Amino acid sequence: MSFDIEEKINLIAQWIKDHDRIVVFTGAGVSTESGIPDFRSPGGIWERFDPNEFLFDKFLASEKVREKYWQFHTEVYYTILKAKPNPAHLACVRLDQMGKLDCVITQNIDNLHQNAGLPQEKVIELHGNALRVTCLTCKKEYDRKEIQQRVEAGEGAPQCDCKGLLKPATIAFGQPMPFKEMKEAETRSAGAEVFLAIGSSLVVYPAAYMPLYAKQAGAKLAIINLAPTPYDHQADVVVQEKAGVAMEMILEGVKKRV
Ligand code: NAD
Repeated sequence: MSFDIEEKINLIAQWIKDHDRIVVFTGAGVSTESGIPDFRSPGGIWERFDPNEFLFDKFLASEKVREKYWQFHTEVYYTILKAKPNPAHLACVRLDQMGKLDCVITQNIDNLHQNAGLPQEKVIELHGNALRVTCLTCKKEYDRKEIQQRVEAGEGAPQCDCKGLLKPATIAFGQPMPFKEMKEAETRSAGAEVFLAIGSSLVVYPAAYMPLYAKQAGAKLAIINLAPTPYDHQADVVVQEKAGVAMEMILEGVKKRV
């Protein structure tokens, strides 16, 4: 059976009306309308930087790689600083205000869910946050601004007071996932009544297991993404539309039903 977009939106709106434990899972596609490019669309950042260069082991092993990584991340940082939350981020806040949102599990590192007004405790960041910096040895956390100034003043790859390596508090390829966040995300996904995967290619693991955990535990699964994903055939509804546009339509549909 094939639905047109309006029917799909109405179905999701009805699920939201009927349930109180909505888990929203977001990827880079939720922030492209805020001006932050995703990695995999044409023109994305992986067409200009080679992800294999930034494997975590290489960061640990080579001062040159660390310097290049900080250059790459300087570009990412300024793009993020300029960005403002868009209607998709605001829709998550609205769901929370309606008492419907269990949490947002995000792969994004841009802090836009919090900037939109979502309380920190409602956001599970699987891949960290680019506005913080961590020492890989003593785990001390720094504000990004302070360390960024040191990078721009000429420290190519800054170090902690303890001489440990400083790295943006994001998860590089090959870097262990944050244990607490992963466990929490697994639990929340499995407990979801409705799971909305928005703006994610669903190819980055282990994050991409979350929709599967939700579906296996009985949640209704909607995927809202411009391009097809490997989980489309498992979803109850697939909406190929911009995240901001689709989420605004869904909220309108929910409002009509309250
Ligand atoms: P991805 O780049 O692999 O996929 C993004 C998906 O979003 C694509 O399938 C694309 O079709 C879709 N998309 C793009 N614009 C959209 C829109 N307006 N509405 C709906 N869909 C849209 O992103 P991913 O799945 O998040 O994985 C990439 C990794 O890169 C993640 O780990 C993430 O941490 C990181 N990343 C984060 C940011 C950010 O924080 N904003 C930006 C780029 C990459």
